[in-house]
Amino acid sequence: MAILEVLKFPDSRLRRKCQEVEQVTPELKKLAEDMLETMYHYKGIGLAAAQVNQLVRLFVADVRPKNPETGEYDLEAMTELERQAPMPLVIFNPVITHREGKVTYDEGCLSVPSYFETVERSQKIIVEGLDLNGQPMKLETDGLLAICIQHEIDHLDGKLFIDRLSPIKSNRIKAKIKKFGYPQEEKEGQPI
Ligand code: ZN
Repeated sequence: MAILEVLKFPDSRLRRKCQEVEQVTPELKKLAEDMLETMYHYKGIGLAAAQVNQLVRLFVADVRPKNPETGEYDLEAMTELERQAPMPLVIFNPVITHREGKVTYDEGCLSVPSYFETVERSQKIIVEGLDLNGQPMKLETDGLLAICIQHEIDHLDGKLFIDRLSPIKSNRIKAKIKKFGYPQEEKEGQPI
């Protein structure tokens, strides 16, 4: 396995639209495993192929909260539906086929480090796609996992969470990053 380079805004490669895979080849399986390793290494809870410069519709996620003292997974802190999801989650060709309700959350991103801003998403979703073995899968979920999946699918369409803020806020953040880069010390929080 390998730790991959994560592209950061304003890298224009983050703006490209990713393509569906025809089948899950051993190379794509390896990419998914490397992406998981990269996501854990940088302490993110999700990572899309676009962020590691791969133009395939694939994301990985693991939203299990960890107890800071014991380092064990704290599954109690997850919703019922989140607990039913396979973790870590790997989905090729993800498509959201159903949405319900609205929710807001302070999102961050490994491609926009140190920034956390409130974004509105659907509260509950059904997502369909292919799993790591290329088998069709369907998942109904809510909570942080539903937010994470919507955030990752945005990446596959060349979109970032900072595009979803009010135009004033979005432009201010983008201009600031372009002018000053990112802070040396990363702000605490879990990038999606
Ligand atoms: Zn992201």
